[in-house]
Amino acid sequence: MKKRTLMEKTRRGTVPAPLRKVARAEGVRVEDLCDDVMNGRVVITSPGGAKGALPLGIGRNLRVKVNANLGTSQARPSLKAELKKLAVAVAAGADAVMDLSTAGDLDAVRRAMLSASPASVGTVPIYQAAVEVLERHPGRIDRMEPDAVFEAIEKHAADGVGFVTVHCGLTLESLGRVRDQGRVLGVVSRGGAFLAEWMVRRGEENPLFSRFDRLLEIAARHDIVLSLGDALRPGSLPDATDRGQIQELIILGELTLRAREAGVQVMIEGPGHMPLDQIQPNVLLEKKLCHGAPFYVLGPLVTDSAPGYDHITSAIGGAVAAWSGADFLCYVTPSEHLGLPEAEDVHLGVVSSRIAAHAGDLARGSKKAWERDLQMARCRKALDWQGQEKAALDPGSIQRLRSRGDLPEGDVCTMCGAYCSIKGMQDILGGAPTPQRGASRGSDRKS
Ligand code: SF4
Repeated sequence: MKKRTLMEKTRRGTVPAPLRKVARAEGVRVEDLCDDVMNGRVVITSPGGAKGALPLGIGRNLRVKVNANLGTSQARPSLKAELKKLAVAVAAGADAVMDLSTAGDLDAVRRAMLSASPASVGTVPIYQAAVEVLERHPGRIDRMEPDAVFEAIEKHAADGVGFVTVHCGLTLESLGRVRDQGRVLGVVSRGGAFLAEWMVRRGEENPLFSRFDRLLEIAARHDIVLSLGDALRPGSLPDATDRGQIQELIILGELTLRAREAGVQVMIEGPGHMPLDQIQPNVLLEKKLCHGAPFYVLGPLVTDSAPGYDHITSAIGGAVAAWSGADFLCYVTPSEHLGLPEAEDVHLGVVSSRIAAHAGDLARGSKKAWERDLQMARCRKALDWQGQEKAALDPGSIQRLRSRGDLPEGDVCTMCGAYCSIKGMQDILGGAPTPQRGASRGSDRKS
């Protein structure tokens, strides 16, 4: 008998164990969560294989999540280095990691990362299909057979990955649209670029689009989440919200309905590079065109002019996206556009993205987020540095910055020392209750 997917189980009125765990972790009613999974507004991804791993909920009324991209490259093929970055990403609070490896024994790398990760692991199987054919036939992506793409997806799913990126919305028509309108930066998605070259060289439709039903069968068999990729995401600000990007989004919305019919969970991937004023309309478009499916954005980066600081350009965009209703932020590190990130870049990328996600949660009225900020404010008032560490998104930064040089007498810091306004006001306002601003905002989230 065919095994039912998580989505199908919720439709039959049962509450699968992963939903109970997610509801408990998020502090939401399990009945509401079942409803959102059933209707495709929340997806549940399976965790990695490490101890303490939990399933991850992404979508409406849940905390905004953060992903860290990892993986070997030809210039840096070390599995050991990627496992170290995985540990750094998880320690910094990443909810998910993606293995985007393109060098070494790709099966071994993926399986090692899966077994070492408590966080949900995602992959882009077309990388493996493309890299393996290009190793045998350099420069001949057209030698990649559609079967190899589906076999790679099945292999990753069977290994237990939580979600796979599949660029199903790229079609010959949308690609032609991008070509005709003259983009500044063409196709910047790596998986999208592999597919686009394959489609043009063979003059054939994208198999992930034309054989979408085969993909759905694989996803249902292994009950994995499909992350419908944005092959035509803008790679520069002038390309944002152009015809190709929006046509792909329309197609992804249509495929979302087909996936739901098949009991397969989907989320939608989004930009990319985008000026601040276009972020909210883009989130609105995704929610409308893709029927409330969870939105997974890369950044977005709000300027192209700050290489070396793209963890900041993307955190600015990520905060606005999260505030506007995006559900999942893919981190960007300081080395974006410049090279493969080192462990320190991974740490900075995850923390920056978590700040953006938290800012979005606050703006959306998350009770838990407001409690955290209230706790920090109270600890600041009490000059309680250990308490501030506990409430901080990155506790290590407090230790690092506080330990620079000798501290002045008392509990104050080196900024004002004896003139510490907080300490002075303790005598004047002493026992006055800390205003509980969060209490009025931190009610039920409406996102
Ligand atoms: S010394 Fe100044 S900066 Fe430091 S805790 Fe007191 S008021 Fe804040």
